Parts: sequence; C-alpha cells; structure tokens
Amino acid sequence: MARKFFVGGNWKCNGTTEEVKKIITTLNEAEVPSQDVVEVVVSPPFVFLTFVKSLLRSDFHVAAQNCWVRKGGAFTGEISAEMLVNLSIPWVIIGHSERRALLNESNEFVGDKVAYALSQGLKVIACIGETLEERESGSTMAVVAAQTKAVAGKVTNWDNVVLAYEPVWAIGTGKVATPAQAQEVHCELRKWLHENVGGDIAASTRIIYGGSVNGANCKELAAQPDVDGFLVGGASLKPEFVDIIKAAM
Ligand code: PGA
Repeated sequence: MARKFFVGGNWKCNGTTEEVKKIITTLNEAEVPSQDVVEVVVSPPFVFLTFVKSLLRSDFHVAAQNCWVRKGGAFTGEISAEMLVNLSIPWVIIGHSERRALLNESNEFVGDKVAYALSQGLKVIACIGETLEERESGSTMAVVAAQTKAVAGKVTNWDNVVLAYEPVWAIGTGKVATPAQAQEVHCELRKWLHENVGGDIAASTRIIYGGSVNGANCKELAAQPDVDGFLVGGASLKPEFVDIIKAAM
C-alpha cells in the first residue's frame, strides 16, 4: 500500500512573532511537490498556532506539540484536545523525547494521551526512540517496541496515527542516524506492527524519522524503503526545511 510522504516541522519552544512571519513567508513562497505526494505539517508553540494557521498556505497544516491527557478542566497550564479541535488544529505531536525525559512522561501516559487525542478527532504524531545508553546496550528494539506497545494497546483506528522514530542521541546533536540505522529500526517497527497489530496497518502506517535531519542528509534517508518522511526540529526553522519537503520527490 502506498504511504504518502510526511514531513513535520517541530519548532519546539522557539520563535517570536517576527521570526514566525519570516518562516511562514519562506514556506508560502516555496515550490514543493503537491499534497498528493507529500503531507506537510508545521508545529509551532501553542501561542502561535492560530497565527500560523491564519497565515500558512492551505496545502500545509499545523500541529500542536502536546495536549492534555484527558478532557479539559482544572488543569492549570494545560491545553486540551477539545481546544485544539475547537480551533481547527488538526494534528498533535505526542510523546516527544524531550517531554518524556524532562517532564517524566511515561509510556503509559503517552499511550493515554494518544488515545484521548484520537478520540477527540485529532491526528497524532506519536514519538518513540531509544537513548544512546539503550542503543549501546543492545536494547533499541526492546525499548521502541515497549513504547509502541503502550500506544498500540490503546489505539483502535490507525488511520490518524504517524509513528515518529526519533533516537534520542540524534535529536539536536548533529549526529543523524545513518540511512542503514534508520531503515533497520523502521523495518523492525513495521514487522512489530505486522505481528502485533495487523498486516494492513503495518503496510499503511507511516513511520517517519527524526533526529538531526537536514537539507544535506534527507535524500539518502528518504530513499530507504521504510522511511516514510521526517520529523524535523532545528532545520524546520530554516529555509532548508523546503529542501527536506522536496526529499519526497
Ligand atoms: P532535530 O530535532 O531535528 O533538531 O534533531 C528533531 C525533533 O526533536 O523532533
């Protein structure tokens, strides 16, 4: 089954109004493959979501970087899935390694968030990935399988899920996974989905790679059969994000 290439830009906790306008101008002027070929989603901080949505070309979409695990209410400082839906924000990133590490988000909590966001009609970019220590001790697959299992156990419809494999050691370090390293894990993840969720879902679910993707390394990574796109951090704030979108061709 053909999987449409997916390129997400995770702006993390960056940007001023002026910087946001500049990035959007670059994206709006870019000549990129059509929406039939590549799905492009940018994820600004919450406070810029509606601003970005109002300025951004209509063939690109926006994502929040997080949302609350259940229905909104007395949860100071949180943003609920219902609010994102109310503002017509279609996507949300859940389980990013920075939140897992810095805010102690567990596999179970991430799984619950994914399930709740999906139940409200959001599409989810669910992030998984091992640390350097875990890779060096040979437990990469065990770690990403456990992270995926926590999500898979709570998802009934995979149509609105993109799985982002982001090795922690590659995020923001300039140490991108080699195409072979990325392909190996993506292929294993697809096998895991095949065995634990189902053949059709394994074939149709997009598994994207994140971690130091840039304009120079994206083509070779995109050529791997099980790499269905990218989640881009640092480079998504720069004009080279356009080159990464073009890796879909
Ligand atoms: P990076 O971040 O591209 O800056 O490594 C990727 C991510 O955290 O999604």
